[in-house]
Amino acid sequence: MRHKPVSFEPPERLKKLPPYLFVEVDRRKRELRAQGKDVIDLGVGDPDLPTPDFIIEALAEAARDPKNHRYALDQGLPELRETFARWFEERFRVQLDPHEEILPLIGSKEGIAHLPLSFLNPGDVALVPDPCYPVYKSAVHLAGGVPHLLPLLGSADFLPDLDSVEPSILEKSRLLFLNYPNNPTAAVAPREFFEKAVAWARGHGILIAQDAAYSEMTFDGERALSLLEIEGARETAVEFHSLSKTYNMTGWRIGFAVGNREVIRLLGKVKSNIDSGIFQAVQLAGKRALEEGRAAYEPLVKIYQKRRNLFIRGLEGLGWNVPLPKATFYCWIPVPAGYTSQELAMKLLEEAQIIVTPGNGFGPNGEGYVRASLTLREERIQEALRRIEKIHTHWHGK
Ligand SMILES: *Cc1c(COP(=O)(O)O)cnc(C)c1O
Repeated sequence: MRHKPVSFEPPERLKKLPPYLFVEVDRRKRELRAQGKDVIDLGVGDPDLPTPDFIIEALAEAARDPKNHRYALDQGLPELRETFARWFEERFRVQLDPHEEILPLIGSKEGIAHLPLSFLNPGDVALVPDPCYPVYKSAVHLAGGVPHLLPLLGSADFLPDLDSVEPSILEKSRLLFLNYPNNPTAAVAPREFFEKAVAWARGHGILIAQDAAYSEMTFDGERALSLLEIEGARETAVEFHSLSKTYNMTGWRIGFAVGNREVIRLLGKVKSNIDSGIFQAVQLAGKRALEEGRAAYEPLVKIYQKRRNLFIRGLEGLGWNVPLPKATFYCWIPVPAGYTSQELAMKLLEEAQIIVTPGNGFGPNGEGYVRASLTLREERIQEALRRIEKIHTHWHGK
């Protein structure tokens, strides 16, 4: 028999995926921990607190019922979709058809990742904010699309300038990703921006995919809008929602796509060929979480707001001015003069054993920032501030 070795050369679409930029920080984190160092991790965007008990109880009960052990329906339980529709109407005053405008997901990331595959032809351009949650770009590459970056600048409140897209790019564009409240910048979009985006998208035949993973995590009485509150948005947009951050359920994998029914149908078609639904017990626990609504997550938002105040005021006390985030558990921190994002992150790690995420990992316009995630108890945040104070005297500039 002739021998022909398998080629492990990655396919072109995998080669296009951006390199993982946090390798160096991760490697040093593991090394320092192995040396017994007390590393404070402000890097991960994953809530530290447990899922509320009543949701765990609902899961345990549902898990005992053999009805829930079999393949789930592709489109999710009707009662879950109906409960989400009620939650959505109460929260945003928008009525959704639970059967055609709502699709449960195995976490919103799953839906976001499958959207370009459901909607783009190879070569189509997708407009992606820079900096952004890395999945948008990767998902476009995996679908054979071409990401085109739209800068999010502090001087423009981290909103993209849609009119700046060149006609030659615009012509090939079919999809625009938005994410408000925003990871990593913590920006919130005002109604005028959403109105402008919808009018612009309708004028150019572009679908908006708005990622609302942090819609409930806003501070100082601010309430985030749904893009679907804007007149006409349903013709041109889908929005992604998630129970992950709102209810401390990141590991459970449950989210929703809502909005344009054609897109919901296309996304459902891709999904029905790939997965076989969400574990039904998780669907029922998610339904229970939604029924409880604000009462379940208001205390969590208060906790994040207290942590935010502690951290930002603490940095201010050191003469390091960081804008107060209006939403999310992230602080988007301008890097002091004389450092790159990567240099500051490595310095904090080496000299204070504090992990932050270098902003350039989220896109070229993230350079000049680091992201700190307040998913740690107040004592740990205080300890981080003490360590920063110790090394801060060496810093100059801002
Ligand atoms: C965490 C996060 C998600 C993913 O949420 P899941 O529902 O757990 O998949 C989506 N978008 C952004 C911006 C996030 O930060």
